[in-house]
Amino acid sequence: MTRGAARLEPASEEAIEKGARLLREGGLVAFPTETVYGLGADAASAAAVAKIYAAKGRPSFNPLIAHVADLDAARREAELPAAALRLAEAFWPGPLTLVAPRAAGGSVCEAARAGLASVALRVPSAPVARALILAAGRPIAAPSANRSGHVSPVTARHVLEDLGERVDLVIDGGRADKGVESTIVSVLGERPRLLRPGALTREALEEILRAPLEAGEGGAGEGGAAAIVAPGMTASHYAPRARLRLEADELRLGEAGLDFGGCFGAREGRGPILDLSPAADLEEAAANLFLYLRELDARGAALVAVAPIPARGLGEAINDRLRRAAAPK
Ligand code: AMP
Ligand code: MG
Repeated sequence: MTRGAARLEPASEEAIEKGARLLREGGLVAFPTETVYGLGADAASAAAVAKIYAAKGRPSFNPLIAHVADLDAARREAELPAAALRLAEAFWPGPLTLVAPRAAGGSVCEAARAGLASVALRVPSAPVARALILAAGRPIAAPSANRSGHVSPVTARHVLEDLGERVDLVIDGGRADKGVESTIVSVLGERPRLLRPGALTREALEEILRAPLEAGEGGAGEGGAAAIVAPGMTASHYAPRARLRLEADELRLGEAGLDFGGCFGAREGRGPILDLSPAADLEEAAANLFLYLRELDARGAALVAVAPIPARGLGEAINDRLRRAAAPK
């Protein structure tokens, strides 16, 4: 694969065909999903997957999510128990990732799984992502298309800012609408376990399961996959340059603001204030979160006060990302 300047192309049938060809040849193609932009490579190819780890600066012990076209394709890759099938039927295509034992004969390579006997699978709903997976005709390993530890990209421009020449093609499909990553559920244990809160709410999952999800943190002692749920689970991740002060009910002198529901009000002479959702809508706040963190960095904010975000629904994922964004680097 030649390594020229990254090409940015608006989503079109030609761009998708070109992307699929690059993927089959072992290249890296960034594309929009409904959650954030993904950095895709042929999940069956150790050489292609190695390029993902290198481009992101991601440690190779952190496994990747494989994106597949549908439930049938998922069942070729993993042994899905009854609870997983119920969740898949309810939420695929959509922002749900299932971690399950890999199927004998599955194609997702060991490097993509970071050597684990489990595999993480997702069926995205975004039309560009679906078309690309179908055209490539194979599972596509795709973590978020940012440098490891940085804020996830929700536009094609963010991808170029982070990865530039490290990717062969960026397909521009406009803003990723949900704005936070998929919810990851492990079905390796007796009961489904929430490994990472995300764009699909706990409440929606538990309604289908008719039972509470096990907590993610408790899994760390289990060994195997649960112990390895880096990088989205490391203390510092999704991190902007600015320092964040969470649960702030007012702006201090010199602080920029990341507001929610107009809590800070408009003050003269203070730094910029971006409101995640003036109407206090959690979906809108999730969609704006990474965009605004990057925007505050671009405006040179060094200290950012972040208004309290309710813990319910999508607030669980938003607060999770904010805690990691605020953690010492
Ligand atoms: P990212 O692609 O950066 O959004 O992160 C994917 C998440 O899925 C990471 O936290 C991984 O550790 C987790 N993951 C991927 N594959 C597995 C697996 N086989 N077992 C457990 N967790 C996984
Ligand atoms: Mg990521």
